Amino acid sequence: MPREVAIVGAGIVGLACAHHLLAEGWRVRLIERGGVAEGASFGNAGALAFTDVLPLASPGILRKAPAWVLDPLGPLALPPAYLPRIAPWLVRFWRASLPDRHRHATVVQAALMQLAAQAMAAMTQAAGLTGRLRHDGNLELYESEAELIASEPGWAARAREGIAFEHVRGARLAELQPGLSPRLVAGTFTPNWMTVDDPHRFALALHADVTAKGAALTRAEVRDIAPADEGVRLTLADGTALRTEACVLAAGAWSRELARRLGDRVPLDTERGYNTTLPPGAFDLRRQLTFGGHGFVVTPLATGLRVGGAVEFGGLHRPPNFARADAMLRKAAAFLPGLRTEGGRQWMGFRPSLPDSLPVIGLSRASPRVIYAFGHGHLGLTQSAGTGRIVADLLAGREPAVAVEALRAGRFG
Ligand SMILES: Cc1cc2nc3c(=O)[nH]c(=O)nc-3n(C[C@H](O)[C@H](O)[C@H](O)COP(=O)(O)OP(=O)(O)OC[C@H]3O[C@@H](n4cnc5c(N)ncnc54)[C@H](O)[C@@H]3O)c2cc1C
Repeated sequence: MPREVAIVGAGIVGLACAHHLLAEGWRVRLIERGGVAEGASFGNAGALAFTDVLPLASPGILRKAPAWVLDPLGPLALPPAYLPRIAPWLVRFWRASLPDRHRHATVVQAALMQLAAQAMAAMTQAAGLTGRLRHDGNLELYESEAELIASEPGWAARAREGIAFEHVRGARLAELQPGLSPRLVAGTFTPNWMTVDDPHRFALALHADVTAKGAALTRAEVRDIAPADEGVRLTLADGTALRTEACVLAAGAWSRELARRLGDRVPLDTERGYNTTLPPGAFDLRRQLTFGGHGFVVTPLATGLRVGGAVEFGGLHRPPNFARADAMLRKAAAFLPGLRTEGGRQWMGFRPSLPDSLPVIGLSRASPRVIYAFGHGHLGLTQSAGTGRIVADLLAGREPAVAVEALRAGRFG
């Protein structure tokens, strides 16, 4: 008789957990209150950023943040009304940015990324998704030599983790991406960075595969998770109780309350992000471009060209401010002369973010049968398969390939 597991949340993380648990013989039920992958996993920038091993909480960000936050439509927005709510998170972010903590988190992130890359390769192979991957790397762009020089410590730290990159100028820069504004004087090419054809299509294809392999989907909102004899009891919004042998909490930015009910106070908040997806052909884009100084990326997708990024603190309920998406599109047009900016679709998504830029993956305090898999911030698509593998290890009682101590819910005290 196969064991039974319920996965709360059918975003890319929940789906990757489903993939890995099915492979180990679990009977899997996804429980999702909305559409499959219609949360953060719907409209992200599609990067498999395995080379992005530097946690966002870093000394460099602390230097840039004050100027960013003063620009009303800049890369970082902090509405004054949300400040009291987010202040404890920001204090933790600042602590995590201190050099020794940042170094430690970099080692953890690098190990997680190594596993994530291996697990993604295996998962896409097993699920027939390899045709949805683009292997053309990422090009980070700079407006001055000084900006490139300022980025050097970060590249040196990546080099220590074995990340390959190439600083480029002139003809090599133009070869990697023709048609750039002359304002962009240099770049850094990371060849092992990948993208997917479209994050929503990618997730739906994974869902189709796990469904074909036996995963069931229940459309419902989970209100409570509690240990019960020999298993776990889930209470749904209509009052129905559902018994299962194990549970994975993968509800993205909405996981905090359910974790609290299991006795874990996790400082999960959301970094809201915006983008505009232009119709295919809006620009002859050769690979994903990163404008690090402006906090956005431009991604070639099968469904069009996606311009976006930015971080806005503001929680899960404030209405979106699409002027942010407009502002990034205007900047992109200035950097990519000839970009056709008409006909775009705007989107806002909720990154599930912990202040130390690492996810929560591990056992709940209340029960070893409830496993957390949330809080991947800017990197949930990238780390989805790696997370699935760790979750499968934990539920099987095996030691995961990554030391999960640094990822446990209780690490914030
Ligand atoms: C603008 C932007 C760009 C990004 N770019 C990238 C990128 O290029 N690469 C990358 O790796 N990451 C990127 N990210 C981050 C990435 O999108 C997220 O980290 C990832 O999608 C999180 O996946 P998830 O499955 O944890 O959450 P989600 O996709 O949000 O899924 C959580 C699911 O849980 C469901 N749910 C919540 N509560 C309940 C409940 N009580 N009962 C039942 N269901 C529930 C929700 O409906 C939702 O479907 C980006 C994010 C944004 C916003």
